Amino acid sequence: MPKKLFFNWKMNPTSSFQATNLFEEVIKSSKSLSVHVVVCPPFVYLPLVCEMSKKTNIKIGSQDISTQDSGSLTSEISGPMLVDLGCQYSIIGHSETREINHLTNQDVNKKIRHCLQSKLTPIFCIGYQEDKTTTDINHTELSEQIQQGLQDIRLEDDQIIYLAYEPVWAIGTGKTADNSIIVEVTKFILQELKMLGLNSKTKILYGGSVDDQSVVELMKIEEIDGFLIGGASLKPEKFSRIIGIVSSN
Ligand code: PEP
Repeated sequence: MPKKLFFNWKMNPTSSFQATNLFEEVIKSSKSLSVHVVVCPPFVYLPLVCEMSKKTNIKIGSQDISTQDSGSLTSEISGPMLVDLGCQYSIIGHSETREINHLTNQDVNKKIRHCLQSKLTPIFCIGYQEDKTTTDINHTELSEQIQQGLQDIRLEDDQIIYLAYEPVWAIGTGKTADNSIIVEVTKFILQELKMLGLNSKTKILYGGSVDDQSVVELMKIEEIDGFLIGGASLKPEKFSRIIGIVSSN
């Protein structure tokens, strides 16, 4: 199966004009290629990119989601609002969001439930600071994030979860985790998912400085289903090469 690409624009770009241009580049780069691309822009550009995506194969996701359909939750954006725009995915528990909003694993769990109830597919992010070699993988922290984040989650027949393993030290630093760590952690994640009965319905992604260079080595990891990409998703010359590499494998 070709690896899937999830582009996280983070808090970029800063105008509708730039967002339009950037999304046009994604359309151009992926046109007539067999590649699964999901673009996750800031909330304010979702109406724009959802509209632009209509005649393409590109899917759209949000970078966060609330826990309820509606109500007195100033600043929050709910699942039904995202579905109404045409979104199909939502990033949940990104390490930056966890830090900025002081999210607990229980908060992440509530968001995943709401996401699934809204018929959106969660891109559930896990990861922490220290695991630079296979010997210092923090199994306890990973296990807590998975077990608490996915506690009591039940999936309908047509639902799946994407779980993105993103070592925090690798995000936006230009440093990528070694394939050996990613394989080791992926095996561990699958064991944890098995305990929850979710192993066959969860696809695993890697994120952390994936670019047009690092992707070549990372493509060799059979255990993962795709990549969550931040910085390189803002640079057309980089993401067009990534799309080319992924679609030709
Ligand atoms: C991310 O934002 O999830 C990410 C992995 O960023 P980057 O590719 O820039 O490391």
